[in-house]
Amino acid sequence: QFVQSEALARIAPSATMAAAAKAKALKASGADVLNFTLGEPDFDTPQHIRTAAKAAMDSGKTHYTPAGGLPEVKEAIVAAHARDTGVQYAAAECVISNGAKHTIHNVLAALLNPGDEVVIPTPYWVSYADLVALTGATPVLLPTTREDGWACSAEQLDGAITDATKLVMLNSPSNPTGAVYSREQLAALGEVIVNRDVWCLSDEIYSKLLYDGAEFTSFAALSDEVKARTITVNGVSKAYAMTGWRIGWMLGPEPIAKACTKLQSQETSNPCSVSQYAAKAAVENSQECVEEMRKTFAERRTMALEGVNALPGVPRCDPGGAFYAFFDVGSHFGKPLGTSGRTCETSDEFCEILLEDAHVALVSGDAFGAPGFVRMSYATETATIERGLERLRSFLGG
Ligand code: PLP
Repeated sequence: QFVQSEALARIAPSATMAAAAKAKALKASGADVLNFTLGEPDFDTPQHIRTAAKAAMDSGKTHYTPAGGLPEVKEAIVAAHARDTGVQYAAAECVISNGAKHTIHNVLAALLNPGDEVVIPTPYWVSYADLVALTGATPVLLPTTREDGWACSAEQLDGAITDATKLVMLNSPSNPTGAVYSREQLAALGEVIVNRDVWCLSDEIYSKLLYDGAEFTSFAALSDEVKARTITVNGVSKAYAMTGWRIGWMLGPEPIAKACTKLQSQETSNPCSVSQYAAKAAVENSQECVEEMRKTFAERRTMALEGVNALPGVPRCDPGGAFYAFFDVGSHFGKPLGTSGRTCETSDEFCEILLEDAHVALVSGDAFGAPGFVRMSYATETATIERGLERLRSFLGG
C-alpha cells in the first residue's frame, strides 16, 4: 500500500493549476467557460525566439549541457540583467533552471534545514509556502492589507524575524496582488535584511510588466550589503510569453550558485538545451516584443480594472504590475449569488459557485493566504474579459 513520504504529505497540489484543470474539465464537457485562472500570457512566443530555437536544434545543440546552464547563455543573462537593472553579476553567480519555480525550489533546498523559519508576506504566490514546507522549514506568514497597498513595512518585517529566521521571500511586482514596492519601501526592508543578517529571495519574474508609471527596483540594486544577502530570481516565462519552454534563473552569491548547481546535477542534469538558446535570443535581442505585449496587457488591465472597480460591493483595486486583478468579494458572503441564489462563506466556495453557475473561473484568495479575495488573470483577449465581467456583475446582483 502506498503511503506518501512525510515531505510530500506536507504540501498540497498547486491551487492555480487545480483551478485551471477544473475550468478546463467543465469546458471539455461542453460548457461555455470563461477561464481567468492561469498566470500565463496568451501570446505565441515571438518569432525571432522560435527561430533561434530551431537553429539550435538544426545545428545539433541537442545534447546535455553543463548542469547549471551553458556559459554563453549565463553571459547573456547577466548582461541583460545589468542592462535592465544596473546590477552586475558574474556568470559564476548565475544558475539556469527549468523555470523560476524550479529555481526557487533549488534555492530553498540549498539554504534551509528543518526548524528554519522563512518569512513570507501575504498574499503570496501559491508555491512559496509549499516549497518551503517541502524542505522541513517553517513558513511564517506576514499579513499585509489592501489598505496598505499590500506592502509589508520594515517594522512588520523586523517583528517577524526571530533567531530561527533564515530567509525572507519578496515578490514585486506581486502575484497575486500586482502590487509594486517603491524603491523607498524596499530600501527600508533592505536595512532590516542587513541588520538582522538574513537571506532574501527576491522573485522578480514580473519585473517587465509595469503600468501607469509604476517603477521597478531590483532588490539587489539597493546596496552592496543588500546584494550580498540577496538571491534574485527571474525567467523568461512571463515577459517573453515562454511559459512552456521552462527557463528561469537565480543570480546571487557564488557559494549558493554552486550549491544549486550541485543539486541540479543530481536532479535534472541540466535545463533543456534548446530552451536555453531560445532564452538567450529572448534576453539579448531587441526588447521591442516585450514592450508590445506589455502595451496589450496595459489595455486589458484598463478594461479589467474599470469592470472590477464597478462591481457592486467590491472595494477598489489598482495593481501597478503583473497581469492580475486581486479583489475583495467578502461583502457578498452569506448573500444569495447569481441565478441559483446559493450562498458562500469562503473564497473557495465563492469560486466554486461562480464556476458552476456562471461558468467564470477565478482563483480563490484562500490559496494565496488572503481569505475574502479572488484573483482574475487578465492575460486573455478583451472580448473574454468583457464577457467575464458582465457575468460577474450579474452574479453579484449588479
Ligand atoms: N514566481 C511567481 C511570482 C510566479 O507567478 C510564477 C508563475 O506563475 C513563477 C515564479 C514561476 O514561473 P516559471 O516557473 O514559469 O518560470
